This record gives sequence, structure tokens and C-alpha cells, in this order.
Amino acid sequence: RESKGKLPRYPGLERWQLIEKMGDGAFSNVYRAKDTQGQYQQEVAIKVVRKFEMNSSQGNDHLHPDFKKTPKTVERANILKEVQIMRQLDHPNIVKLVDFHESRQYYFIILELCPGGELFHQIVRLTYFSEDLSRHVIVQVAKALEYLHEDAGVVHRDIKPENLLFYPTAFVPTKTPKPKGPEDEDKADEGEFIPGIGAGGIGTIKIADFGLSKVIWDSQTMTPCGTVGYTAPEIVKDERYSKSVDMWALGCVLYTLLCGFPPFYDESIQTLTEKVARGQYTFLSPWWDDISKSAQDLVSHLLTVDPEKRYDIKQFLNHPWIRESQEETTAAA
Ligand code: ADP
Ligand code: MG
Repeated sequence: RESKGKLPRYPGLERWQLIEKMGDGAFSNVYRAKDTQGQYQQEVAIKVVRKFEMNSSQGNDHLHPDFKKTPKTVERANILKEVQIMRQLDHPNIVKLVDFHESRQYYFIILELCPGGELFHQIVRLTYFSEDLSRHVIVQVAKALEYLHEDAGVVHRDIKPENLLFYPTAFVPTKTPKPKGPEDEDKADEGEFIPGIGAGGIGTIKIADFGLSKVIWDSQTMTPCGTVGYTAPEIVKDERYSKSVDMWALGCVLYTLLCGFPPFYDESIQTLTEKVARGQYTFLSPWWDDISKSAQDLVSHLLTVDPEKRYDIKQFLNHPWIRESQEETTAAA
């Protein structure tokens, strides 16, 4: 499948040949691309972010204050933070950063390609997922969150089906693809085979889009960011709360996988906001009638308004509905 429309040429991106557009957002276009120099064997995804007005205050002194701040601003610091965070991560269920550079008008974030695209489209395609397929997916998201929350000290803060991508083939590189010379031709990439789950299987799920993510503690010193000993209790609490934000989102994703629609929805943003604030959702009949009580129990422990009572990642992974599968997997192996 080659490109449908005409693909743009970006000055500064000559090395990469764009093949097709994979996604677009307010500030970014994402393309599938390949290395014309042949150093990277695998195709990549390139997130091209327009800079627009970089620093709203810079060179705008002659403007009326109302015009100085344009909402269409991509802050340089935010892009650098996204890249900096991704650079430190190394997990099979997280999209790897391959490279980063910028031109006058654009940032180019070069990423490990997820040829399957968004999980979102698969929910739409299949209407909803079976409990086994939902478990297969959510466990992978949870493994990534466990790594982020417990090892990397990072909260993602934007977990949703559009940011969950997948790799439909079985082979998953465990390390960032390295540039290869001709002498490496016959060396296989380091990686492992992760089984899908049969004809309806999906492959390896990977979390993408660290645009809103935040470092909550220093992974070097294993302490909260800032001066140890002088950290205020609300900061320490804030760290816990921000992790629980991902757990709520995980609950929303699991709910959506199982029935095909999100737990909270309303035409009016105001009503929707109120419903979320009160945690007002139901296991709507008839769609939830045949879904196990155990799955519902797990969802309800995530969609708990009080973040202190909401399940954390360890509790999630220890829930019987999750463990059922792991016991099966172990038994099958
Ligand atoms: P935004 O901040 O605009 O949401 P994302 O990083 O989420 O940026 O990328 C936007 C979309 O581009 C994704 O939802 C997905 O469809 C596609 N995309 C992003 N990264 C990849 C990738 N590594 N492989 C395949 N598609 C990707
Ligand atoms: Mg996104």
C-alpha cells in the first residue's frame, strides 16, 4: 500500500522517505517512513510537529497583549520534555524513540513504528472485545504502566485508545533498533517472539504519546523530584495522585474494550464533567449482561472517585480477573 495523497517534503528531513500518513493532530502529522541511507532496517514513524509561534512573547512586543498569546503555540520546552522522557524509557510495551531533530519550522520525532495503528480503530472494527482479548490487551498496557510508575517514575496522563498502538506481527525488538552497517547484514535484531492470541489476536500493544507525561521522581536517586527532606506532603501525595490518574484511565480503557463504548459520555461537556466528578457510570444492560462479575469488579476498583481507594498498578495486576489468564498462560507453556 503506497501513499494515497501527495506527501509533503520537509526541509531537514531529506534522509527519511515518507511513505504514508498515519495520523494527524492539531500540531502534528505522523508518517510511516524509511531510511534512504539504509542504516535503519526497519521502517519508522515520524511525528512532525509544526513550531508555529514558538515563544509567544518573543518578537511580539508591538502587539496588543490579547494578540501576544496565541493558543496555537507549541512550547519548545514541552516537546523537549516529551523527547527527554521517551529517551529514558525502554520497555516492550512502550513506543521507543529512535531519533529527534528539528528544523526552523518543525520538530521531527522519529519513533519505532507500530504498523497496526491505533487500538481505537480495532475497537471500532470489532465493536467490542471478548474478555480474553480485552485481558490480553489491558495486561500489556498495565505492564507498561507498572514499568512507568514503579521503575521510571513517570506518569503518562493521557492513556486512551488513540494513544495505544500495536505491532501486529509476533517479533518484538527488545532494544531500540541501532544503525546497521553492511557487516551486520546477517545479524538478527535482538528481540523476542510474543505470541498473539490466535486469529482474533492483536499482537503487542505499545503506549505512545508522552506529550502530557510528567516525571514524578528521579529514577537515578529514586526520590521525589526536588530536594529530599524538604518535599512538602502535598507533593508526595501529588505523586501518588498522579499515578492514580493513569489507573482511572486504565479503567476507562478496560470498560471500553469490554463493551465498545466509554463509561462516561454526554452530549454536553458540562454534564459529562459532572458525571465524571461523581463517578456516575453504570454497567449498562443488555451490553454488560454477559460480562463476568469479576471483570466488573475490577473495573469498579479503577473507576473509584477517591484516589486513595482506587487500585494501584500492583493491585490491578493481582486481581483474579487478570491472574486467571496468567495462570492459563503458565499452564499452557
Ligand atoms: P498527538 O499529540 O497529536 O496526539 P501522537 O503521538 O498521539 O500525537 O500521534 C498522533 C497519532 O499518530 C496517533 O494517535 C497514531 O494514530 C499515530 N502514531 C503516532 N505514533 C505512531 C507510531 N509510532 N506508529 C504508528 N502510528 C503512530
Ligand atoms: Mg495522541
